[in-house]
Amino acid sequence: MKSSLQKLQKFLKLEAERGYDNRAVVGGFERMVDAWQIEARNEELPEDLIQVVSERLRDYQRLNQTSRKEIIEGLWKRIQRFSGVDREVEKIEEPPRKPHLAPPTAPSEPKIQDAVSPETNKEISARLPVRSRKKISEEEKAALDASVTVLQGVGPRNASALSRVGLHTLRDMLFYFPRRYIDYTQLKAINRLQYGDEVTLLGTLQSVTKRRVRDNQVQLVEAVVSDGSGALKLTWFNQPWIVKRLQSGTQYTFAGKIDQYLGRLVINNPEVEQVEQQQLSTSRIVPIYSLTDQITQRWLRRIMNQVVTFWAPRTCDPMPEEVLESARLIDLSSALQQMHFPDSWEQYKLARQRLAFDEIFLLQLGVLSQKHAWQERTARDFETSEGWLEAQLKRLPFPLTSAQQRALQDARKDLVSGHPMNRLLQGDVGAGKTVIAALIATMVTHHGAQAALMAPTSILAEQHYNKMLQLLTELTFPISATFDTEDSVEPPLTTQPIPPLQPHEIRLMIGDTPETEKREIREGLANGTIKFVIGTHALIEDPVTFSDLELVIVDEQHRFGVEQRAVLRSKGTNPHLLVMTATPIPRSLALSVYGDLDLSVMDELPPGRQVISTHLLLPSERERAYQLIRKQVDQGFQVFIIYPLVEESQASEAKAAVEEHARLKDEIFPDYKLGLLHGRLSQEEKENVMARFHNGEFQILVSTSVVEVGVDVPNATVMLIEGANRFGLAQLHQFRGRVGRGSEKAFCLLIPESADAAENERLQVMATTNDGFVLAERDLEQRGPGEFLGTRQSGFSGLRLASLTDVRLIEKARAEAIKIFERDPNLTQPENKLLSEELKFYWGGGQGDIS
Ligand code: ADP
Ligand code: MG
Repeated sequence: MKSSLQKLQKFLKLEAERGYDNRAVVGGFERMVDAWQIEARNEELPEDLIQVVSERLRDYQRLNQTSRKEIIEGLWKRIQRFSGVDREVEKIEEPPRKPHLAPPTAPSEPKIQDAVSPETNKEISARLPVRSRKKISEEEKAALDASVTVLQGVGPRNASALSRVGLHTLRDMLFYFPRRYIDYTQLKAINRLQYGDEVTLLGTLQSVTKRRVRDNQVQLVEAVVSDGSGALKLTWFNQPWIVKRLQSGTQYTFAGKIDQYLGRLVINNPEVEQVEQQQLSTSRIVPIYSLTDQITQRWLRRIMNQVVTFWAPRTCDPMPEEVLESARLIDLSSALQQMHFPDSWEQYKLARQRLAFDEIFLLQLGVLSQKHAWQERTARDFETSEGWLEAQLKRLPFPLTSAQQRALQDARKDLVSGHPMNRLLQGDVGAGKTVIAALIATMVTHHGAQAALMAPTSILAEQHYNKMLQLLTELTFPISATFDTEDSVEPPLTTQPIPPLQPHEIRLMIGDTPETEKREIREGLANGTIKFVIGTHALIEDPVTFSDLELVIVDEQHRFGVEQRAVLRSKGTNPHLLVMTATPIPRSLALSVYGDLDLSVMDELPPGRQVISTHLLLPSERERAYQLIRKQVDQGFQVFIIYPLVEESQASEAKAAVEEHARLKDEIFPDYKLGLLHGRLSQEEKENVMARFHNGEFQILVSTSVVEVGVDVPNATVMLIEGANRFGLAQLHQFRGRVGRGSEKAFCLLIPESADAAENERLQVMATTNDGFVLAERDLEQRGPGEFLGTRQSGFSGLRLASLTDVRLIEKARAEAIKIFERDPNLTQPENKLLSEELKFYWGGGQGDIS
């Protein structure tokens, strides 16, 4: 069985066992839908199955228990049925796919046949007026920017309703894709209908009546339809106008889900269309759009059909022919048509593939052109000789790991490339990024230029400052060699080693820095006596100017907005840029999100680093955790206790943390000093608490997930995480990285909210691997990309169909984008003109910045 199905079955089973509390999947079923869809499509499950599963699971949270049970059981049966079919198909030759059409007793109209007959891609293209890049006039292109009011039946009132869902122009309409579809291609005779079917039926209206029920609260329209095989009752609630559309003795198509009322089959609120009318809401795969109150599906479908029929064939396809061929994509016109009104699931799939490709392709072109723009600029070279570097390395208290050496060499090359360095240094917690940053900074200051390092909080900035002082100005390590400012292969041994910087040449600037000192720092930076400044936002908020800023380092880059980095960079002329992150980023994401940066990955921890002993405890074993904590604190160590953000609101989260803190303080650890950290504290208060924990004033820190990334408390040896099931693995790994920073044995204890073994299987991975990348990949699979994006959203709002978890798609799109780019980096060739416009449109014309 396909693994997507297996996974689904496992979760369905678990959900049933749990009594339908929507907790089988972390965060609820709706959270897994997107990732599951991708996997299912990759495994080529039939699209109708994918649609049904997704649709049911998306709505699941809103349902009561009885409905949930029905849904789960229904899906379960469906999967079983499907896997049965699946096996058969595997045994015998795959039969030619026929339209799913049960012969109705009444003769079917050719129109319906039309709507359900599968068409090949070629046939579709042949049917369309041939679209040619040259033939499409500029006017037609511009016409797509026309307001929706040019459409028949759209006046100012409707236009304002459409504008509420972001639909202003014809182009907006064309790219407003259905939220989901209902498959009404199945045409059935009334006597063959079954409960739960989603079908179209063709029949003659026998009678129609209207009345009010439930104290006049509800207007009920009832009708009876027959098709020669039987009769069926139809009901509409609160849609009295439907009566006007219905005439006894006339044939209609009706579509809907077969329901049951008092033991008889009925359809509630069916779609209805006249047989000779164009079939948009019955007899086909029917699109369902997101709506506002003022518009109905039916109306929007009709308007959409107007737009799509006329304008889709007249759009200009910006994608060069060769890309279409090499990536095997259908043309834009067909894709748009099939996306809105698919002739079959196969066509829908091709359409979706094409449009998703466009999104990722444009994203890739965007990041590549940003990268290119950087490479066009020139930057000062900073040469470092082997001898100098060797002398620097010898000053360090430890040899670099080979991952550190590689990262250092990458950066060293950047510094002599003539272009600004633009590098992301990615390394797991504790991989040793700081020392690399320090070495790169000295490569620049060594030549008299200035470097700046920006960290997201004062504590981190201070921590970096102290580390840098130690690494760059002290000579507390055994000195075997020193260096000279002159390049020399063999550094001379001298008795009087000179550290790379003097203490007054490194300064710290944070919000708390006294004004007099700030003034001094400003002066020193302006006249060049300060070589290396380390700070927080204060660095960019303050009117500091540099005499010669040549290197900008940003730590924990995802915590900064694009503008903040830009401001700091603008304080120099094309300075080199190094950004550092401790969040391991899965490959597919790194390719798309950080495609404009060069990447150095430090995937190796320094030797001797002890593995943090990680244990998954049952809620009933909490006392064991407390015992361990007492023992550690009594030995003089410190402890973190993390609580998840249980409610969405910070207020209730804070309340829970406050209560828990009080309980722990009074009942569990009355003899110890406990600190409390939560999201309702001001930045200043938070930092104050952290600082006191850091100084050892608190032995135990109770915190919600706001606890700072990167803060080093070497004395902390236990990380206890409550409600561990609510966190992503990557995040748990970050928490875990807060301990074991010293030489003592450290522990990470995970306590999930329930003892459910299957549910906790995911968490068990934490105990088996210490590799942040492995955990990040798992997370991406299970929870989607949200957690990795941070503030870097520009360009991603354009992703509606593509998913950042789809590695195959991303790699294909990137390869094509690179091909185009290598030939025509500025997209100035005539065949790329449309593409260049599209790119500007997609990136909002904004001069996106580098992370
Ligand atoms: P991070 O990558 O999380 O910022 P740090 O730079 O804070 O990690 O390094 C974590 C600890 O490892 C520091 O105490 C640092 O001195 C130490 N360290 C860094 N590199 C090495 C190495 N090559 N060998 C031994 N210890 C190292
Ligand atoms: Mg760090």
